[in-house]
Amino acid sequence: MEYKASELISKYLRSRKIPSTACSGCGLGMNHKIVVQAIQELGLGVEDIIWGTSIGCAGRQTFATWKGDGFAGTHGRVYAIARGLRVALPPEKHLILTVGDGDAFGIGLTHLIHAARSNANMTVIVNDNLGYQSTGGQYGWTTPQGSKTDSSPYGMFEHNLMSEGLDVMHILKGAGATFLARHVSMDGLKAVETVKKAILNRGFSLVHMPYPCPTNFASRELGSRNQVNIYRWIKDHAAPLGQEKEDTIWATGIWYDASNSRPEFSQMVWDTVDKIRRTGKI
Ligand code: SF4
Repeated sequence: MEYKASELISKYLRSRKIPSTACSGCGLGMNHKIVVQAIQELGLGVEDIIWGTSIGCAGRQTFATWKGDGFAGTHGRVYAIARGLRVALPPEKHLILTVGDGDAFGIGLTHLIHAARSNANMTVIVNDNLGYQSTGGQYGWTTPQGSKTDSSPYGMFEHNLMSEGLDVMHILKGAGATFLARHVSMDGLKAVETVKKAILNRGFSLVHMPYPCPTNFASRELGSRNQVNIYRWIKDHAAPLGQEKEDTIWATGIWYDASNSRPEFSQMVWDTVDKIRRTGKI
């Protein structure tokens, strides 16, 4: 079911923060709406979610937008704060983090791996604008190879986490994540369904969501800020898993689902504390 943005905003978001300060035509709002719609469809209320944000375009535009409780972490550190909160919070509360590609796969990768390793119950939404756009458009870990950016005027030529068969999802699966998925912003209701599953996993979930940045990525790679062109470019380079073409960059859908298959971090902590209290040993 499609919901009007205004309904979701009045129920879940702080009206003074909407519209955000994102550039005109930025795709981040579509990702934000997908997450809020998933929350609505799960029948969750403002009091059921603790929302964490980080740095960069994704963190800045979603910071303090949630009507309920929230927190902000420094660059790449929001997962460490969330792990601590996970132990302190009642288990029925959901933790949702909106972070960027640098936060998740650059400076924050080690913290992210440890959140996955411990299977801490949180849902990480990686809003990927394909590089360092809030600092002017430098290339990063997910910038498609060959793309022209502020720091790669001849085209991005490095190996990265999304090229030549490499995929950061392999790292996260190996680290112990129990739910991994990828969608582009234009996936709409399919992405909503995936985010619902991610939230319902009682363990570490991550949904990677590349989105269009007209201001910096498009202006350098496509030569203009024309919004139609960048939306089309991203859509054309995405395909459902199993239907990839030669030029597919993002295979979309549920990449790995082992929901509820491993003990969850905070449950292990509290079970262990309880056992020590009762028996004096582990
Ligand atoms: S720089 Fe790009 S990603 Fe950042 S707010 Fe502007 S359009 Fe969006």
